[in-house]
Parts: sequence; structure tokens; C-alpha cells
Amino acid sequence: MPRIKVKVDPDLCIGAASCVTIAPDTFQLNAENKADVLDHGQEPGGESYERELEVTQSEMENILLGAQSCPTLAIFVYDEAGKQLFPEM
Ligand code: SF4
Repeated sequence: MPRIKVKVDPDLCIGAASCVTIAPDTFQLNAENKADVLDHGQEPGGESYERELEVTQSEMENILLGAQSCPTLAIFVYDEAGKQLFPEM
């Protein structure tokens, strides 16, 4: 299964929640109305704007769809080697 890193930049996140609608197992709004990154619906170690996740191909595609839906491009996705998958460079 692919390992990816998902990061939300809280300075860019405006709480639009489209990522939450598309990928609720990965994104959740916190008390500041910013998206936290979840690991399959869980928050091991507490709230975080950044997590490494082991995902299936379809979960990865869903997370990328969530990232693409963000109006401010606040979500960054990296592969195991640290290459940025989204936004495309
Ligand atoms: S879609 Fe973007 S702006 Fe909206 S909650 Fe998710 S990260 Fe924040």
C-alpha cells in the first residue's frame, strides 16, 4: 500500500470544508475551523495538520480529490520519497 504524507497549511485553510465532504476519513474541521488530518478517521497522538498515512490506491485517489477541491490549495500531498504529488509542481 502506498505511504503518503498529507499536510494542511492552516494559514491558507479558510474552513470551506469541501475536503471534509469528499474525504471525511482524512479531513476534519477543528475548533479553529481549520482542517486537521486524520488517519482513517483517527487522530493518533492528537490533532495535527500533518500526517504520514498508509493508504490504498482508492483512498489515495480520494485524498487527492479532496486536495483538488480545496479553493485555496491549502492541502499538500507527498509520496513516500517526499515528491509533491499535489499541487503539481
Ligand atoms: S477544503 Fe481547503 S479551505 Fe476548506 S477546509 Fe479543507 S483545507 Fe481548509
